[in-house]
Amino acid sequence: MQNEAFKELRLNCCYLAFDVKVDDLAAAVKAIGALGLGGANVTIPHKERVLDYLDEVEEQARLIGAVNTIVCRGGRLIGYNTDAPGFLESLRADAGFDPGGSHVVILGAGGAARAVAYALALGGVESMGIFNRNLSRAEALARDISRSAACKVEAGDLKGVAISRALARADLLVNATSAGMHPHTDEVPLSDLAALRPGLIVYDLIYNPTKTRLLLEAEARGCRVFNGIGMLVYQGALAFELWTGQKAPVAVMRAAAEKALGNVKKEESV
Ligand code: NAP
Repeated sequence: MQNEAFKELRLNCCYLAFDVKVDDLAAAVKAIGALGLGGANVTIPHKERVLDYLDEVEEQARLIGAVNTIVCRGGRLIGYNTDAPGFLESLRADAGFDPGGSHVVILGAGGAARAVAYALALGGVESMGIFNRNLSRAEALARDISRSAACKVEAGDLKGVAISRALARADLLVNATSAGMHPHTDEVPLSDLAALRPGLIVYDLIYNPTKTRLLLEAEARGCRVFNGIGMLVYQGALAFELWTGQKAPVAVMRAAAEKALGNVKKEESV
């Protein structure tokens, strides 16, 4: 996706993946400056710990507590979080949804759920339910959100009655758990499927498979469904703009991401 974008804008850059072990994180981050790289993306499991090794962390990334994009500027390493605005941009562009004044339910309390919860809270939602398999993680995230935003926040587990009650008035349900992701495609994070009703927007951060069981069940009940490819593309587009200072060719990036994911699916079915 990034390499196609560089090619499209005729930029003499390339994007490479490095598998960095937890114990090597400090050395790997230091090497970004030493090697004169323009920047980097950071992914699972380094997004939170990487903050300790940067010269500067932008305000929203610090609030979320996670960095997924590093820019090297004048020898200084600056951390950003493009997952949160990337998710919001996908909601607006793909689903035509503005979170202002809405009621939302988030499943999960890991790194992605944190970015989504902050994005929605700062986007002006009126109420937010955070439901997670591990209740104490949901409660901790709910506490963090209520310290930084004015919306009403509740926390619960994935099985209680609270989740059904919250879904009855929700405009948007976001799955930010990894339940349903390849190869566990039979898993569904929600037990009360009857709570999925026509008109509800269901956004699953997972993009492999392209439609999780949750999205298939939601679609069969008349919900509007979206997978995580939009968030993947928009967080990448925002990172591209931070690195290059140029407008990202979003359509080219989306086509490249969809092609690459199509190839992954073909390999998995062999
Ligand atoms: P993470 O920090 O490891 O968190 C995983 C979350 O999933 C936790 O809330 C965990 O609950 C929950 N979970 C795992 N297995 C479950 C199961 N069988 N049933 C119910 N809940 C389960 O991972 P993450 O970084 O937040 O990523 C979560 C998902 O978002 C992944 O599928 C990832 O691919 C996707 N994602 C997509 C994008 C995008 O651009 N589209 C960006 C980031 C992440 P416990 O706390 O109880 O363990």
